[in-house]
Amino acid sequence: MNLHEYQGKEILNSFGVEIQRGIVAETPEEAVEAAKKLTEETGTGWHVVKAQVHAGGRGKGGGVKLAKNLKEVEEIAGEIIGMNLVTPQTSEEGKKVNQVLITEDVYYPGDSEPEEYYMSVLLNRATGKNMIMYSTEGGMDIETVADETPHLIFNEEVDPALGLMPFQARRIAFNLGLSGKAFKQMTKFVTALYKAYTESDSSLFEINPVLKTSDDKIIAVDAKVTLDDNALFRHKDYAAMRDTREENPVEVEAREAGLSYVDLDGNVGCMVNGAGLAMATMDLIKQAGGEPANFLDVGGTADAERVEKAFNLILKDPSVKAILVNIFGGIVRCDRVAQGVVDAYKNMGNIDVPIIVRLQGTNADKAKELIDNSGLAVESAVEFQEAADKVHKVLS
Ligand code: GDP
Ligand code: MN
Repeated sequence: MNLHEYQGKEILNSFGVEIQRGIVAETPEEAVEAAKKLTEETGTGWHVVKAQVHAGGRGKGGGVKLAKNLKEVEEIAGEIIGMNLVTPQTSEEGKKVNQVLITEDVYYPGDSEPEEYYMSVLLNRATGKNMIMYSTEGGMDIETVADETPHLIFNEEVDPALGLMPFQARRIAFNLGLSGKAFKQMTKFVTALYKAYTESDSSLFEINPVLKTSDDKIIAVDAKVTLDDNALFRHKDYAAMRDTREENPVEVEAREAGLSYVDLDGNVGCMVNGAGLAMATMDLIKQAGGEPANFLDVGGTADAERVEKAFNLILKDPSVKAILVNIFGGIVRCDRVAQGVVDAYKNMGNIDVPIIVRLQGTNADKAKELIDNSGLAVESAVEFQEAADKVHKVLS
C-alpha cells in the first residue's frame, strides 16, 4: 500500500527520524492557517506548498512551489488544489490533487549551502537482506544517476537479524562526504530510518532528497513509503491511511468484495480460482496469442455471487474481447460454479463478449452439460489446450 508524503513523514517522525515539518490542507484557507501555525512552531518565514498525490516528480510537474508570504501560500494552494498534476511518473491525464502539504522552508541560507542526498531502504531478494541505497546525488532522478554516474550510488546491506550496525551508519555518513556535526546527525538519521523501516513493516522507503541544511541538520524533505499489505493487520492505524482516491477504482471494488484483482493491459479477461492457476492461465492466454486483461483470483468459494461480481469487474474494462473462466473444483463443486456462470450471465444481460469456461474437478461432467445446454454464448472446454485453442479462435 502506498502512502502520501505527509503520511510517510508522520510514520518516519514517530520513529525519531527528523523531517521537514508540515501540515496538510484541503483548501487555500486551511493552507494559510497551516502556514501561520508552522511559523509559530518553527519560525519559518517562507513555506513550500506540495501536492499530495501517489506519484513522484511532482516538482517537475509544478506540484511543489515555494511561497514567500501568506498571500502566495493562498494563491499557490488555490492553483495546486484541484489541479490535474502531470509528472514523469503519472499517466498523460495526470492525477487529481485533493490535498496539499504546507511545509516549513528548510533551504534557508546559513554557514554552508544546503545539500541534497538520495536514500532508500528496501529488501534485496537476491541476498535476503535489507539494503540501504544512497547517493550524494539527491534531489534528481535516481534512474538518471544510475545510468550516467553509477559509481555515485552506494549500497549498504543489512542483515535483518543483526540490524544496522553502528559502523555501517558511520560508513554511510563517511561515503556521503560528511564530517563534524553533520556526520553525527547522519548516523542518527540512518539509524532511526532503518528502525522505522523494519518496525513499520514497510517494503520501500525512498527519501529524495535527504537534506543537509545550512546549519548541518539532516532531515527528510520527501518521503515515499510503501507498506507491506500482508502486515497491515498489525498496524490498524496505518491501514486507515489508505486513500482509495489514489487507487484503481476496479481494484478497490474487488478488494472490498474480497477478490484479488490486478488490472493489466491485455484483451482477455481471466476468472480463476487460486493464484497459481491464475498465473498458469495467464501464460496460456499469451500462448494462445492474447494478452491477459487482468489477474483475478476468485478464491476457494467460487459461488454464483462471487462469479457474478467477478464478471462485473472484468467487464468494466473496455479492452476485454473475451473472457476465460478456468476453475478447478476441489472444494467448490464445478456444477455450482457452472450454475453461477449461467446465472450471472442471465442476470447481467449485457455480456457481449465470448466466454470460454473450463471447469475441472468434482462434478466437471455435470458442469459441462449445464454450460452446453444453457443456450448461452458460453463455450465449454475440458482440457487446458482446448481452452487455449478456443481463446485463439475467438480472438482471430
Ligand atoms: P518530488 O518532486 O515529487 O520528488 O517532490 P520533493 O518533495 O522531492 O520536492 C521537490 C523539490 O522541491 C526538492 O528537490 C527541492 O528542490 C524543492 N524543495 C522541497 N522543499 C523545499 C524547501 O523547503 N525549500 C526550497 N527552497 N525548496 C524545496
Ligand atoms: Mn522527491
